Amino acid sequence: MEKHFEELIQQVKIALIDADNDHQLNNIKSSFLGKKSELMNMMKKLGSLSADERPRVGKQLNLTKQKMESLIQQRAHEIEKLKYDRTIQAESIDLTMPGLQPQIGGLHPLTQTQRKIEDIFITLGFDIVEGNEIEDEYHNFDALNTPPNHPARNEMDTFYIKRLQDDSNNRLLLRSQTSTVQVRIMENNQPPIKIISIGRCYRNDKPDRSHSPFFHQVEGLCVNDNTTFADLRDILSYFATMMFGNDIEWRFRPHFFPFTEPSAEFDIRCFSCKGAGCSICKQSGWLEIGGAGMVDPNVFDAVGIDSERFTGYAFGLGIDRITLLKYRLPDIRILFENDVRFLKQLC
Ligand SMILES: [Zn+2]
Repeated sequence: MEKHFEELIQQVKIALIDADNDHQLNNIKSSFLGKKSELMNMMKKLGSLSADERPRVGKQLNLTKQKMESLIQQRAHEIEKLKYDRTIQAESIDLTMPGLQPQIGGLHPLTQTQRKIEDIFITLGFDIVEGNEIEDEYHNFDALNTPPNHPARNEMDTFYIKRLQDDSNNRLLLRSQTSTVQVRIMENNQPPIKIISIGRCYRNDKPDRSHSPFFHQVEGLCVNDNTTFADLRDILSYFATMMFGNDIEWRFRPHFFPFTEPSAEFDIRCFSCKGAGCSICKQSGWLEIGGAGMVDPNVFDAVGIDSERFTGYAFGLGIDRITLLKYRLPDIRILFENDVRFLKQLC
């Protein structure tokens, strides 16, 4: 019998070795000291023992019970200390650990291009002005010498919003060009005028790799009493060099715009084929980045500037186009999709 008591105590000691939380400890307590435990069964049977045996076995049972309780209690203290140590460990701060790297944002490629353009023209003495994205038909077309039957005024090309009055032909629209700003500036200011305006424009184009229903332009306007086409040539030549590098080749190509005369498209040498012809430049060896010309006297007349005395040049450059060329991007849509994988490379 005594040997069996020793075995029970040994079993408790072995069970306690692996116990390291309150739940396991309660299970051990229940199996060795609970109502259905072997020890309790033995206590229930005390009454069936002889009067001689009963006190001795009873004493052994009590001693065994006390020993078991003491062992469990001791382990409970150890577990408590373990828990405390774990908490201390978890809450301790290692000041030598490297900190969390903050995620630093960057400027969108279009914003980078826009700021670069602003910097270039500010050094040339241009002021920066802002214009409205919602304009009226008069400022977007009529004042820019665009006749009522011009195809650009078609509803297939321009986003019209509503008529200003029921019987009016002057409708509100999303501006299709930043040239509207030069009209408003000239309406309210007499020469000398030297401004650029950067902003978003809208045309009813189906999105593809080179078209988007909205895009960004920089508009330039310089008016005084001795401005010539040579000045325009110098300004755009300087711009191309500053934007694309000293070895950039550029050209004017004769063109027609209703609001400038003479007019030209402004091209740079294809960066991909260096002029030999490739799919990017459609085998021409050149890439168009905007239009320019001398302000048409009819525009001066429409805004109240003396066309006999003053001359001026105007230009409009595609910021999206310049960004695609500068970063060698194949598709304009990538600029507006906000794909973080793309933006992380260029921002
Ligand atoms: Zn090419």
